[in-house]
Amino acid sequence: MIAPAPDRTLSLRVSVTDRCQLRCTYCMPEEGVDPCAHADILRYEEIATLVAMLKDEFSLGKVRITGGDPLVRPNIETLVGMLSRMDIPELALTTNGQALADKVDPLRDAGLHRVNISLDSLDPDTFRTLTRGGDVTRTLAGIRAAVRGGLTPVKLNMVVMRGVNDHEVQAMLSFALNEGCELRFLELMPAGLDGDEFEQRYISCSDICKALKTEFKVEPLPLRSGETSQMHEVESPAKVRGQFGIITPTSHPFCTGCRRLRLTADGHLIGCLARQDRIFIRPFLDTSTDAKRQELFRAVKEAMGHKRSDAVFETQPSMARIGG
Ligand code: SAM
Ligand code: SF4
Repeated sequence: MIAPAPDRTLSLRVSVTDRCQLRCTYCMPEEGVDPCAHADILRYEEIATLVAMLKDEFSLGKVRITGGDPLVRPNIETLVGMLSRMDIPELALTTNGQALADKVDPLRDAGLHRVNISLDSLDPDTFRTLTRGGDVTRTLAGIRAAVRGGLTPVKLNMVVMRGVNDHEVQAMLSFALNEGCELRFLELMPAGLDGDEFEQRYISCSDICKALKTEFKVEPLPLRSGETSQMHEVESPAKVRGQFGIITPTSHPFCTGCRRLRLTADGHLIGCLARQDRIFIRPFLDTSTDAKRQELFRAVKEAMGHKRSDAVFETQPSMARIGG
């Protein structure tokens, strides 16, 4: 397959909190991660300053609001409204869906375009065990409310783990097709887990595809420029057609042409998920002077330079910290 021409548009993931209602086993230890002090969490105005600068000085195509779980941060629709007024081509949010059903209308009315929702299992017991306490019926209600409320296309993220939920990949794909959602299978990343647990649970995209092909007709589509997801056309045994994606950070890192930046909840800019380099930009998130604006611009350029051509993971504490 020919690699598409690199897309020069920047994409920013903003973690608005490191707090979460859940403790997914692949993301956080049971006791959670040490939370940042409230005073260290960026204010919405500071986040908006970075977004405005990226929009003015670079080509900013997408902002994704994430966490932790972004819906635990009070009045998240206020931030959505501030960013929506900047006319970013794609304004999205990633959530575990536990608190989504009641938030769909306020988020859409504030200008959110779409949501990604994490759903690793349809089985209530597996879901509860995997998330250490989550209620699958709440996430299912969030998914249906998002589809009804027009936060579409609704994309569902499933982290596939051997011996935990890999037997559910076919049922999850049928569910997504029937609900009008796009399912994305995520390979497990070695973040938030110890090495032995990762080795035991990791399952590659080719094994996921092999399992799907036992029931579904599957055809890979050409890679879309700037996308991390290898899309496939699919037809279910019940003849429902649609598409799904596989995200392969571990077996086929999508580093070439990567234009993603991450902002942590406490104001660090990260250019590469697989590296520990981060730049503390909070002091420059008040662009009242030319000098601060220039510092911010320089920090963005420096973070973009932290890209590497292979994704050998330097240990990351937890995706909840850096905004998955
Ligand atoms: N709480 C929200 C959620 O779960 O959707 C947003 C933040 S979460 C860190 C963002 C994404 O990162 C989720 O889809 C989650 O499944 C994924 N993630 C977290 N840890 C991961 C890991 N070790 N490997 C693969 N994906 C991971
Ligand atoms: Fe929370 Fe999302 Fe991490 Fe699960 S993956 S613990 S829902 S931040």
